[in-house]
Amino acid sequence: MVDSFKKVLGLTLLIVSCSVSGCLGGDLGILGDDDNKGIPGSLALACLSSQKYTSMVIEIDYAPGYMPESSSTDLIKQRVSEVCDKPEGITVKLTETNFDNQGTWTADGVRSSGWEHKSNDPMTGSTLYWQAIFPQGTYNDDSVLGVAVDASTVAIFGDSVEEAKGPIFGRPSAEEVENSVLVHEIGHLLGLVNRVYTSPVDHEDKDHPGHSNNEDSVMYWAVESSDIGNIISGDLPDEFDQDDKNDLSGMKSGEIETTDQLWRP
Ligand SMILES: [Zn+2]
Repeated sequence: MVDSFKKVLGLTLLIVSCSVSGCLGGDLGILGDDDNKGIPGSLALACLSSQKYTSMVIEIDYAPGYMPESSSTDLIKQRVSEVCDKPEGITVKLTETNFDNQGTWTADGVRSSGWEHKSNDPMTGSTLYWQAIFPQGTYNDDSVLGVAVDASTVAIFGDSVEEAKGPIFGRPSAEEVENSVLVHEIGHLLGLVNRVYTSPVDHEDKDHPGHSNNEDSVMYWAVESSDIGNIISGDLPDEFDQDDKNDLSGMKSGEIETTDQLWRP
C-alpha cells in the first residue's frame, strides 16, 4: 500500500514537473517581444481568421529516419481545418532536414533550430506558416514528448514517443501517441488552454497550467507525458473537446478577449 502510494506520488511529481517545465517550455518568459517570434498562441487569430491569411502551410521538418506517420500529418491537417478558416487551403509540407543537434534539446535549441530551417517567415503574404520539427534526440526532460516554443514552432521527440507507447499489447501504439502529441502541440499554437485568453468555462487543469482537465480532450495534461501509456491504455484523445472549440470560436468572434497577438483582424 505504502509502496504503491509512493509510486503514484512519484509518478505525479514527475508529470507535474514535466508539464510545468516541458510542454510549454518556451513560453515561460524566455522570449522577449523584441524578436517577434511571439509565444505559443500569438498567431492564434491569424489561424482562426481568414481576413488576411487565407492559406496555411504546416511545415514538417524531420531528421532522417524521423518522418512522422502519414496518419499524423493527415490528422493535423484535418484538425486545423476544423477550427481555422483557410479558404485557399491547408498544405502539409514535409522536408527531410539535418539538424546540428542530435542529442538533448532545450526550448531555446528547438527555437533556434526551428528558425534556422523554416522555409518562410510565419507571416508571408497571405499565407500562415506553422512548423513542427521531428528531430533526433530527446528533450532535456526526457519525459516530455513535445514542446511548443513560440508562436509558430513546435517539436515532437520521436525517440520519446516510441518509448511512451503503452505497456499492454502496445496500446496505445507509438503511432497513436504521435497522432495525439502533434495535435496537442498545435493546440498550444492555437492558444489552448488559457494561454492567450481566459476561458469563460473552468476547464483548465489547476495542477497543469495551459492544459485541459478533460481526459477526452487532446489538450488533456497527460498527453504530453511519457507516462501517457500508463495513464490511458485505451483510445487516446486526438481532438479538441467542445470547451476547447468554444474557446477558439469565442476568440475568433472577439467575444473572448485575446492577448499577445502578432496579428489581429
Ligand atoms: Zn501541453
